[in-house]
Amino acid sequence: GFAAALFLLPTLALSLLPTASLPPFLAGTGWTDWLHRALIFLVVSCPCALVISVPLSFFGGIGGASRQGILVKGGNYLEALARTETVVFDKTGTLTRGTFEVTVIHPQQLSEQELLELAALAEHFSTHPISLSIQAACRPAPDPARVTDVKEIAGRGVQAVVDGRTVLAGNQKLMDQFQISFEDRCRHMGTIIHVAGDGEYAGHIVISDQPKPEAAQALSDLKAAGVRRTVMLTGDAEPVAKAVSAQLGLDEYHAGLLPGDKVDQIETLIAAKKSKENLAFVGDGINDAPVLSRADVGIAMGALGSDAAIEAADVVLMDDDPAKIALAMRIARRTLRIVYENIVFALAVKFACLLLGAIGMASMWTAIFADVGVMVIAVLNATRALYTKDLVRKSQP
Ligand code: ADP
Ligand code: MG
Repeated sequence: GFAAALFLLPTLALSLLPTASLPPFLAGTGWTDWLHRALIFLVVSCPCALVISVPLSFFGGIGGASRQGILVKGGNYLEALARTETVVFDKTGTLTRGTFEVTVIHPQQLSEQELLELAALAEHFSTHPISLSIQAACRPAPDPARVTDVKEIAGRGVQAVVDGRTVLAGNQKLMDQFQISFEDRCRHMGTIIHVAGDGEYAGHIVISDQPKPEAAQALSDLKAAGVRRTVMLTGDAEPVAKAVSAQLGLDEYHAGLLPGDKVDQIETLIAAKKSKENLAFVGDGINDAPVLSRADVGIAMGALGSDAAIEAADVVLMDDDPAKIALAMRIARRTLRIVYENIVFALAVKFACLLLGAIGMASMWTAIFADVGVMVIAVLNATRALYTKDLVRKSQP
C-alpha cells in the first residue's frame, strides 16, 4: 500500500498539472491532445497490479505453507524466515521424539517397583515428556488421590507430597537445590531422574529418548537452504546433549540450562549476529515461550507443544517434523521472489508506458494494457505462491 501511494501521488500531480496544462499553455496549441495524454498517464499509473498482487503473493505463500502443515501467522514472518541464518533448537520434543522409555531403575533401599511408583505419583500432574514416560512405565497405575501439594520446578523437576512424604523427582540441579547428597555413579546413557523422599535420596531412574528420525536430514536441509549456524539449547545434562549434538551434526550446543538461561543464550546469539540476518528458535515446551517470543522467528511444535508455546510462536509446525523448517524457508524465499518479480515487472512496464505516453506514442489501449494487463499477469504470477509440491520433494531425496 505504501509503495503504491508513493507511486500514485507524484504521477497524479505529474499527469494532471504539467502534462495537461503547461505544454498547451506554452505552445498555444489545443487542450484535447494533452488532456488525452494526461488521462493515459493516469490510467498507466494506477498501482492496482502492486496493490493486489503483493498481498496475494503473501496469502498464497501462507496458504501453500499451511497445506504442508506449516502455519505462518503473517506475511512479515515469511519475510523474516527468508532471511534466517541462525536456527536454535530446544532438544527434548523438538530434535528428539520426547517419548522417553524407562531403561534402568536403581533404587537405594526400596524395590524397583516401589521407586518407580513413587516417581510416577510425584509426576502425576506434570505434562512434561519425562513425566509422561515415567507414568506410562508404572503399571498398574497408582491411585492419584495419594498425591497432594504438587509443585513443578521449571528446568529441574517436580516436588509433591505422596502419602504424607515430600517427594522430589528431577535432575541433579533439583537435588542440589534441596541439598540432597547422592553418589553420581550411573554409567548408563540417558536422562537421569533422581528421586528423594523426605530429604533422603531414594535412587534414580534412567530414561532415554531417541532423536527424531527426520532430525539429521532436517539439519542438513537447513544448511542447504542457507542457514549458517545451528545451535541446540537444553536443560538436560552435558553427556546427553553432547551425544545428541554429535549424532545430528549441530554446530554447537549448550547443556544444563534453566529456562532463564535459555533466554540469556538467545540474547547472546542475537547480539552476535548481523542485524539483517534473523535468528529462529524452535521449541515445544511451556518454558520455551519467553525464548520463542524473543527470537526473530519463533517456531513451535504443534502436536507435542504446549499451548503457551503455540501462542507465543510465529510459525507452528502441525506435525512436529523438524524437516518442515527448511521447507518453510524455501516457501518463504519463493514467495518473496514472486513479490519482487511482480514489483519489478509492473514498474518496468508502467515506466515504459509513461515514457511512451509522454512523447505521445502510447494509445489508450497501451495504457489499459499497462494497467489491467499487468495486473492480470501479476495476479497469475502471485497464485504460483500457492503451489508448494515441487518444494517438498527436494527435502526428501
Ligand atoms: P529441554 O530443554 O531439553 O527441552 P526442559 O527445559 O523441559 O528440557 O527440562 C530440562 C531438564 O529438567 C530435564 O532434562 C529434566 O532433567 C528436568 N525436568 C524438567 N521437568 C521435569 C519433570 N517433570 N520431571 C523430572 N525432571 C524434569
Ligand atoms: Mg523442551
